[in-house]
Amino acid sequence: MERSRKRKLQAPKPSPVKSEIVENKDNAASESVNGLYPTHPRPTPEECRAVRDDLLALHGFPPEFAKYRSRKLKENPTSSTDAAGSSPPPPPPPSLSLSLPSVKSEPRENGEDEAETVLDGLVSILLSQNTTDANSTRAFASLKRAFPTWEDVHAAESKCIENAIKCGGLAGRKASCIKNLLKALLEKNGKICLEYLRDMSVEEIKAELCHYKGIGPKTVACVLMFHLQQDDFPVDTHVFRITKAIGWVPGQADREKAYLHLNKRIPNELKFDLNCLFVTHGKLCHMCGKKGHNQQRISCGRPCPLSKYFCSTNLK
Ligand SMILES: [Zn+2]
Repeated sequence: MERSRKRKLQAPKPSPVKSEIVENKDNAASESVNGLYPTHPRPTPEECRAVRDDLLALHGFPPEFAKYRSRKLKENPTSSTDAAGSSPPPPPPPSLSLSLPSVKSEPRENGEDEAETVLDGLVSILLSQNTTDANSTRAFASLKRAFPTWEDVHAAESKCIENAIKCGGLAGRKASCIKNLLKALLEKNGKICLEYLRDMSVEEIKAELCHYKGIGPKTVACVLMFHLQQDDFPVDTHVFRITKAIGWVPGQADREKAYLHLNKRIPNELKFDLNCLFVTHGKLCHMCGKKGHNQQRISCGRPCPLSKYFCSTNLK
């Protein structure tokens, strides 16, 4: 309640601005203010909407992201996700639908999703690095089972945390990152909690989170989009590959620059849906998938709806 009230009191955010803010560790800030790729005026808002509609017609809205979409609409019903108004977009006819394996939409074992805190979300994202969704979901559930509160995790030996999350891979590195984060939060704020981020601006949140060791720009962008219901557009491996293939970012762009460019070009109200759809499509479409463009058709036999946008110079 309190949170919604505060959010409503914030001044309306001007549309394509937040992407102009760059992580401190990057010196691209001045570039971005002047337009990162001024000679690359894509994607246009019309292209964004067309691609969103094409992917939505193919996949429906991905169920594994539906809870975040509902939260976003609950928090700020007028600001975002314009697909099919405020209701979840209708699923495509079963014959056209490509759905993800059931493991993706399994509920968390640690309790109600509605009770998920910002810190839960951030740790989930940290655990999802360099592993599958299924493994990171298992690692998070195992961590919460072993240590029900974040204070318990903070008090635990690193080795015990490592053991609890080992099914997610890179357990040593992830355990140390989580432990450092909890320690820093306690020292700085006197409590282990990140709910205060909900009352901060996107720029302030980026500046705040990037101070913590092991939390990079992509993690911050995911926290903003999924757990703080802000209009941001993280660039993961699927988003990077697809947006490059369809010519939305120049072929030479690295992921950091693609993030800045896409956040500047994509209308805020389309960011969430497009991002979720790109991730889902990247996992399901053989043509846009990791293995590259060596297959002409996706698994159900329908042509990839993005093939008409492919930019031959960017195909890799
Ligand atoms: Zn595709």
